[in-house]
Order: sequence, then C-alpha cells, then structure tokens
Amino acid sequence: MKKKQFKAESKKLLDLMINSIYTNKEIFLRELVSNASDAIDKLYYQSLTDKTVKVKKKDLEIRIIPNKEERTLTITDNGIGMTEEELENNLGTIAKSGSELFKESADDKKNLSIIGQFGVGFYSSFMVSDKVVVESKSIGEEKSHIWTSSGVDGYTITEGTKKDNGTTVTLYLKTNTEDDNYDEFLESYTINRLIKKYSDYITYPIKMKEITKDDKGREKEEDKTLNSMIPIWKKAKKDVKEEEYQDFYTDKFYDYEKPLKIIRSEVEGRVNYQALLFIPSHAPYNYYSKDYEKGLQLYSKGVLIMDKCSDLLPDYFSFVKGIVDSEDVSLNISRETLQENYQIETIAKSLETKIKKELLAMLKNEREQYETFYRAFGMQLKYGIYASYGMKKDVLEDLLMFYSSTEKKMVTLKEYKDRMKEDQQSIYYACGETTDKIDLLPQVESVKDKGFEILYLTDYLDEFTLKTMMNYDGKNFVNVAVEDLDLDSEEEKESLKELNEQSKDLFDKMKESIGSSLNDIAFTNRLKNHPVCLTTKGDVSLEMEKALNAMPNGENIKANTTLEINKDHPIAKKLEKLYEDKNEEELARYSKILYAQARLIEGLSVENPTEISNLICQELAK
Ligand code: ADP
Repeated sequence: MKKKQFKAESKKLLDLMINSIYTNKEIFLRELVSNASDAIDKLYYQSLTDKTVKVKKKDLEIRIIPNKEERTLTITDNGIGMTEEELENNLGTIAKSGSELFKESADDKKNLSIIGQFGVGFYSSFMVSDKVVVESKSIGEEKSHIWTSSGVDGYTITEGTKKDNGTTVTLYLKTNTEDDNYDEFLESYTINRLIKKYSDYITYPIKMKEITKDDKGREKEEDKTLNSMIPIWKKAKKDVKEEEYQDFYTDKFYDYEKPLKIIRSEVEGRVNYQALLFIPSHAPYNYYSKDYEKGLQLYSKGVLIMDKCSDLLPDYFSFVKGIVDSEDVSLNISRETLQENYQIETIAKSLETKIKKELLAMLKNEREQYETFYRAFGMQLKYGIYASYGMKKDVLEDLLMFYSSTEKKMVTLKEYKDRMKEDQQSIYYACGETTDKIDLLPQVESVKDKGFEILYLTDYLDEFTLKTMMNYDGKNFVNVAVEDLDLDSEEEKESLKELNEQSKDLFDKMKESIGSSLNDIAFTNRLKNHPVCLTTKGDVSLEMEKALNAMPNGENIKANTTLEINKDHPIAKKLEKLYEDKNEEELARYSKILYAQARLIEGLSVENPTEISNLICQELAK
C-alpha cells in the first residue's frame, strides 16, 4: 500500500511534536477529548436541522479505554465522524491558517508560541505515541476508514469495519525513557486526574471502565463518568477557583498567558443568560489584522450553537473572549436570523454595559493592570470613537488615556479636566513620535511655562480621535501647535500685531526664497529660548498631514503652515538687518535654513537636504 506524505508544514509540526518540545505532554488527552466533544456537538447540531439524522442526547458519549498489555490508549466518540476525504484533509494537514503562518518562520521557538495560540490539536498525540490509528465512520457514509501513521514518514488510509458513526483514536504509547514514563497514561488514577484538570466542563459524559469492589469484596467492572459535565460558568461562583478559570481560558482560547480580567455575569430578566468573559493580557498576534474574528461562543441549554457569535460584541470590545449561555436563544438560530434577533441584541447591550463597568473598575482600582490593558487594546477604543464619527464617544471617552506632561504618566481626560486651572479654557495637546521628542518641541515650552498640563499624543490615531470627539465635558481640545493659541495678553497681542504688519515686506521676501510649501511667516511671543517653529492654521495639523499621506491611497493633503520666528531672539534682529541692508542673497539663505530647521524639529523631511547642508557649511565657514 502506498504511503501518503504529510504536507510540508504539517511535517514540520509533527517533527516538533515527536521530538516533544512541550514539557506538559499530558495535554494530548485534552486535545483528543476536545476534538471528540466537537464532533459530538457537530452531530447534535446537524440533528436539529436535518431530520434524517437522529440522535438521542443521552447516548452521546466519549470513552477512554486504557490497555496495559498492548500499551495502547483509546479515545472514542459517537460524533459526526470523518469520511475518507476528511481523514485525508483534516489529519494529513494542519489547519490552513496555522500552516500559512508556519511557512513564515523557520524559528522553532517562534513556531511553538504560534502553535500555542492555535492549540496543538490532534498532532499532540505524537508527543506520547509512536503510532496513531484513527478509525472513523462519517454519519452520512456506509463504510468506515482507518488512518494510520507512525510519524513523519507519512500515513496510510484503508477501509475499516466500524459499524457506528464516530471516531476511535488509538495511541500506541512510546517506550518509557529515563525522563518520561508513558505508562502512567494507562493508569486510571492519571486519567481521572487529567480529565478533572482539563476536561471537567465537557458537556458529554467521558466514561471509563473501572474495577470496583462491592461490599463483599468482589471485584467488578463498572462504567464511571470522569467529568462533572457542569460547565464552569454554571457552577456556583464560590466553587470555582481562580486557577480553574485561568486554565479554562488558556485551554479554550489558545492563549499562553492567563487573562488580565475574568468577568462572570448572570442575568435574569426579559432574557436570561450566563456569561463568562475574559480580557486577555495581550493582543493576539493577528488582532490588528483583518484575519482576526471577534465573537463569543454561544451556548443554548449547554449545547454550543455558534463558535464566534460576532453580534454579541461591539467592534471596540472585540478583544473580549468568552462564552454566553442562554436558554432563551433558539437552538436553530442561524447567522442570517441572528441580526434581527431580539434576544441576542438584548444580551449584547447588557454585555457592553458590563464590560465597560468592569474596565472602569479596573481603571479605578487596578491602575497598573488597566495600563497593561490599554497598551494592548487602547487603539481599538480610539478607533471605536473615530470610526463611529464620535457616536460612541459617550461609551468610550472615559476609558481613554494619554501621556501627561505634568504627571509624566498616562492619565484620563477626567483626571486632566479635574486638574485644569481656573482660567483654562481648553485641553492642550501636542503630537510627535515619542513623548521625549514632544517634550522638546518649541511650541510646547511656552504652554508648559504658563503652567498648563499638555497631553502628549504619540499614536497616529490620537489626534483624529480627539478631533472626532471635538470636546470633553465641554472643554475643547487644542493643539499647542496651532497658530492662534491665544495665550498672550491683549497688550502683547496688540504689539505683536503691529510688529508683524511692519515686517510684511520682509516676510514676503523670505517667502519668495522658501517657495510655495510654506503659507505664512510671522514673529511670535510663544518661543522663549527657541528661534523658530512651525504652526498650522485650520483643521489639518502636521501630524495629521503625516498620517494621511502615509496611507496607501493618501491624497496629497497639506497642512496650512506658518513659520513662526521668536521676536526676541537675536536671529530676528539679524533678519531685519539683512533686509534693511538689502542683502537679499544672504536673507534668502537664512530663510531657507530657518525653514528647514523648523521642519526638522517637527520630524518632517526637508525637500532639498543637500542644498541646506551646503548653505549651513557656507555660514559656518565664515
Ligand atoms: P482543530 O481541532 O484545532 O481544528 P486538530 O488537529 O485537533 O485541529 O483536528 C483537525 C480536524 O480534524 C478537526 O478540525 C476536525 O475536523 C477533525 N477531527 C479531529 N478529531 C476528530 C474526531 N474525533 N471526530 C471528527 N473529526 C475530528
């Protein structure tokens, strides 16, 4: 019989499994039991819509059969089963999304953490066995098929004799070594322990034959159900330990880190439901990509009816993982009817309120945790405001955080507002690449000097978010780099206006040599120690110009810029002098250099760096 080869990526994974990099090999049992449970779910689900498929709920079961003589461990289910083709596709290759990723990295360590996020699946059987035999009969087929593999050299598929639908996985355990005792997986004690630890909540009975003694001391063999079958979210809160939730989360949602927050909620009202939600401690590797699918597992009366019910979560809370179980949701619910479903809508609304409440509580009571959360998912909250054109502002604004110039840490808008000075009209912010760089911006200095707190925005979405919000609790957001910041006294304003009017001719000359990328030039009071800066008029700031133009279809959007020159800096006098002396060449050189400097300070590029560099050297050489 011809051996078939595994797909390249599967082979690699198999190799990792066989050479067993995982220290806790015992998880293979969890994976196989979980596959068995899924297969029964699928059968049950099909029976709800397909009248030809008949199942009796009480007959559905998973069975574990250890055989010490043969050194085999068998896991069976009476679920949906697999056809020959499905055996080939499902076991000959790992899940497509997984294998795609697998191609990208040759590094085993990295691969492992990736596999970790997908779950190691069926292949984990090879951590404890040198040969695996799977016999399966699909519900719709007459014949069963047997898939056999001893590892990387491939697999065979032959016809089998199994009469009932379902799957039997038989593991031929590896020989014991000094470090690993595989025999322990045949011990009733170990199997009991592992099922309790990893699979207790599985909603079908996991049965095993055990030898018990009756009152006369005679031995007899009896079926024993190893799991409690009560899902963790239905157990009394006092009976569930923190670690149980954590283990449940890491197993079920393929995370290698425990969750940041566990939320349990039980609602009785017009719609009854139980929810067990988790906020992860870090973003999944594909979170900010279009591959990421939000959603909660939806159960009805203990039966899984949808794996990722996206209508239960708004996009801005798409990071939440978990389970909703509601007896009021119909078992026959389909994706199409979901959207108008009153029950789902009601649950979604109530979950949104709950999640927000928990996040606010975390912000108040566990600040450090909240900051971890915000680093991972803050972007999604900001995007929620931006993408809804501000409609979701009320839900999200109090969850936002920005770096504060005075507190030197992340603060909320409410904290900022509560600290505002009496005469302060606006919430000030400045944009840049890093908080250190922003702190050095000339425009920032004078605002800081006047004693105002400034929010430093470093994420490209930040300013868009504030612009969409327009204000917070009645206070406008103002970029410190706008031209009309309006911090001067009336007198100062008046004298500056006069000076600028007088210097109009000088500025026109300067603009001529700089070119059309600059809109205006003016003297300013706002710069204490710095000679120049760039400010903007209107809606588009320099940071927004950068962000918009970095987008793939970025139209060439320009901020309306003004080169502001410190009127008290010696350079101002020098410019006036050059103008009076009609030294036009030198004035042109100075103008170009000053403009280039202002652009560099903003992190913008200079159009003609060679020319500017030559001009500076020319001045240095004098
Ligand atoms: P995953 O369960 O993460 O999809 P696995 O490698 O564990 O990955 O399994 C691959 C596929 O093989 C499953 O998605 C399922 O379609 C199929 N499969 C595995 N075990 C069984 C089983 N006991 N009954 C039916 N199908 C199964």
